[in-house]
Amino acid sequence: MTLYEKYPVSISNSLSGNKELFTPAKAPFVGLYSCGPTVYNEVHLGNLRTFTSFDIVFRYLTHIGYKVRYVRNITDAGHLTNDAGVGVDRIEESAKLEQLEPMEIVQKYTTSFHDVCRMFNILPPSIEPTATGHIVEQIDMVKKILENGYAYEVNGSVYFDVRKYNEKHNYGELSGRNIDELLEGTRELDRQDEKRNAIDFAIWKAVSPNHIQRWNSPWGQGIPGWHLECSAMGTKYLGDQFDIHGGGMDLKFPHHECEIAQNVGALGKSPVRYWMHTNMLTVNGEKMSKSKGNSFLPRELFAGSHPLLAKAYSPMAVRFFMLQSHYSSTLDFSNDALSAAEKGFKKLSNALTTLKSLNHPGNGTDDATLAADLKRMVSECYQTMSDDFNTAKTLAVLFEMSSRINDFKSGNLKFAAVSAETFAEFKNTYIAIMEDVLGIKDEESHNQELMDGVIKVLIGLRKKARADKNFALSDKIRDELKGLGVQLMDGKDGEMNYTIE
Ligand code: AMP
Ligand code: ZN
Repeated sequence: MTLYEKYPVSISNSLSGNKELFTPAKAPFVGLYSCGPTVYNEVHLGNLRTFTSFDIVFRYLTHIGYKVRYVRNITDAGHLTNDAGVGVDRIEESAKLEQLEPMEIVQKYTTSFHDVCRMFNILPPSIEPTATGHIVEQIDMVKKILENGYAYEVNGSVYFDVRKYNEKHNYGELSGRNIDELLEGTRELDRQDEKRNAIDFAIWKAVSPNHIQRWNSPWGQGIPGWHLECSAMGTKYLGDQFDIHGGGMDLKFPHHECEIAQNVGALGKSPVRYWMHTNMLTVNGEKMSKSKGNSFLPRELFAGSHPLLAKAYSPMAVRFFMLQSHYSSTLDFSNDALSAAEKGFKKLSNALTTLKSLNHPGNGTDDATLAADLKRMVSECYQTMSDDFNTAKTLAVLFEMSSRINDFKSGNLKFAAVSAETFAEFKNTYIAIMEDVLGIKDEESHNQELMDGVIKVLIGLRKKARADKNFALSDKIRDELKGLGVQLMDGKDGEMNYTIE
């Protein structure tokens, strides 16, 4: 029996509004898609909350035995400053401001996003497709939508005809918005002459020749509409209908609503079986966002350099802070909450280190009460995670487990009172839930990895210096590292290694 059969997962499906039993279309395979960042600037802590939540979904489903294909895209074209399809292209705007090429902006912020993910122990997805790498697929989708009569072309742009779509389908089914109200509400506000109705949205947008990012299409040069990339890439890698699609609550409308309409309009099928939406990270009750000026960046957190921060916090303390609430609740930032998370993280991570050093001697027999207690906690770890990924409740179980760990260490609990099997199950579960599922790693070992990486970079530079016969530099690197207690050793084949005194 697999863990997912033993502990069936339930998910709050934003489409139905109900918590539903999760049954993948083709178990053990699971298709998971989450909207990735628009790489026009650095991600802030609010964005990271959402990426961390889907990292947990990916990790947990994988841990319990599903074979998950996780697709998280990179938006590197088509995302305008206004979601209604007007405004300027975010990447082009940053490129102008920073005096770089749009693709330099994309490269710079994709690299920075990956660095931040590594720090927060957010795993790379199985596939990380980019919008610019899927222009052909997006043009094909626009063609299909046009063929099916759900879009129209004006001056080289193609708009999705929401009113027409709604004659047969239900625009608003995900967000609960009423189309008549939408039609009413936006008529006056948005004087977009090209569109038949203000709520129509661009699936292909003509751009002027001075727009650097632009592609040829049957309608002239332009860029894909932002919502289109997720429709095209989701179905390309996960099929016409896949299991889970996630994103922040703010993407429900219009982004995800439009995604459904595009898929139905092109392929005749609603793309997603379970929609998941994470709630917002707030500051004093307000959504954290760059435009509100209340967002801080990961590097500001580590340095404690933002006015809202009382001190610096480590990535794992921040990750822990995020896991202390359920993804569907808002999470309010405060220094008190982060300091409390720091303490909680230390407690659980100290227990992890202790547990790793505890080895059962092999000659115990289960005391019925103790064994039942340990087994209850093991199964509660899985029950809470399977219950809509409730990390907050799982952490409460881990705190309980950490007390038992300390009791085994102090001798309050005796190994003789528990069988080796029961202890092993308890130990393995604690380690697996902490490390594999919640992705909480011991910061010491993280620092160790970092140090190892840095020394290897220096070894590489020293090798290069020697190859260039720059012995003054190669000796300087060796001597200065020695001064710090790092002894480099030259191997026979030119390989170098090191020891730390
Ligand atoms: P963006 O790069 O703006 O498309 O955002 C990337 C992801 O972060 C999306 O899934 C957003 O919904 C999410 N997001 C943005 N702001 C917040 C916030 N304050 N709290 C949680 N998630 C957010
Ligand atoms: Zn998306």
